[in-house]
Amino acid sequence: MGKASDWLREERRKTLGDWVAFCLGCGHAQRYFEENEAELPRVCPTCGGEMRNRCPACGALFRSVFAVECEACGGELRPAEQFGTPIRKHSRP
Ligand SMILES: [Zn+2]
Ligand SMILES: [Zn+2]
Repeated sequence: MGKASDWLREERRKTLGDWVAFCLGCGHAQRYFEENEAELPRVCPTCGGEMRNRCPACGALFRSVFAVECEACGGELRPAEQFGTPIRKHSRP
């Protein structure tokens, strides 16, 4: 029965991952495992924009599809207005 579990693991590897890469242009995101980092697309398959998977300031990986700030250094990972409305909370007017 080892084959079935191998297949299952392979399927999971295709769709899941510990880390996230996302497009700076359209927000397209994908999960990946660290050992597969070299296989990540450099440009977005949807819009051709730049894919980012590391903090530009400190090189830290990130886990959240919705991350806008680096967990390690607090640096900006992408424009906060990417989804049309600012992700960061603003105080009320
Ligand atoms: Zn894109
Ligand atoms: Zn950082």
